[in-house]
Amino acid sequence: MNIENIAPLFGLEASDTPLVLAGPCSAESLEQTLATARGLARAGITIFRAGVWKPRTKPGGFEGIGSPALAWLAKVKEATGMATVTEVANGRHLAEAVASGVDGIWIGARTSANPFAVQEIADAIAALPEDVRGRLTVLVKNPVNPDIELWIGALERIAGAGIRRLGAVHRGFSSYGKSIYRNPPLWRIPIELHRRLPSLPLICDPSHIGGSRELIAPLSQQALDMGFDGLIIESHCSPECALSDAAQQVTPAELAEILEGLQKPSTPAEGGENLEQLRREIDSIDDELIELLERRMRVSREIGRYKHTHRMPVVQPGRYRALMESRVEAAAALGLAPEFIRTVLAAIHEESVRQQLGLR
Ligand code: PEP
Ligand code: MN
Repeated sequence: MNIENIAPLFGLEASDTPLVLAGPCSAESLEQTLATARGLARAGITIFRAGVWKPRTKPGGFEGIGSPALAWLAKVKEATGMATVTEVANGRHLAEAVASGVDGIWIGARTSANPFAVQEIADAIAALPEDVRGRLTVLVKNPVNPDIELWIGALERIAGAGIRRLGAVHRGFSSYGKSIYRNPPLWRIPIELHRRLPSLPLICDPSHIGGSRELIAPLSQQALDMGFDGLIIESHCSPECALSDAAQQVTPAELAEILEGLQKPSTPAEGGENLEQLRREIDSIDDELIELLERRMRVSREIGRYKHTHRMPVVQPGRYRALMESRVEAAAALGLAPEFIRTVLAAIHEESVRQQLGLR
């Protein structure tokens, strides 16, 4: 199925300034929801986000207020005139959220990884009256795992249900091990999504990528430099007291400052050929290489400790030869020059040996 006839999100006419959605991770109380919304409205934000049903990785976290909080979003709209958007994870959520008058919904990363859940939401959308469906904006976050086909599949299910105000949200991808990011951005994936679906609006969620308020500004700038159409940023009237994602939320005034500091690219980046985009892609791959090398050295030091305890020599020529041969063969199958891969592996091996010797 093709994703075509895309209409502007929230019915807004195309503009040079990026779309900004902001609001708390979770609607916690009427007071917190309204205070945050009023602050954001003063900062010029026109689209308010807030989670009502919160999928938490582990039980025991704040799982959201649920249905009663939908009335608070309606109050936000009444008091500030902002458009509202919340997360839905099943057909019942979708029907309740739409009945409460939200302007849009987003499908979270844990849900977009599950085709059964996405189809259930799509079916609930298809059951809406045509005029309601026509006004509804649906944003599909990338699945937690870096699977672009799964992301596109979720978008296709929603487009297939008759949604035209459709957009994608890049919120980074789960990873194992240490990283400066909560969810490493792997920019090449949203870049590839844009290459394949050039008319689909693409929004960046620096809050969930970075996981800390300090990373919001640099990640937002990177997204704008790459031609993203908008940003969705978590903002809370008292971030330190937030019941979920406290470390990554900023006050409405801090958000205004961040947005003020961003440089809007004068000409929007176009397609995959853009030099700036390709450079960001290289930056992202280099970040991954550095993280992988750090992980490899950690394992190598562990092997070093084992060898030391068992009185084994640090360098074992048989193992080194076998390793070199298998890697050169694998690399050649991908079209990499054997000489190049030998040079890289020799440098890595040399550093491993240096580190293992340092343990003695
Ligand atoms: C959120 O936006 O609050 C959220 C839960 O995001 P994600 O699905 O990206 O983790
Ligand atoms: Mn959150």
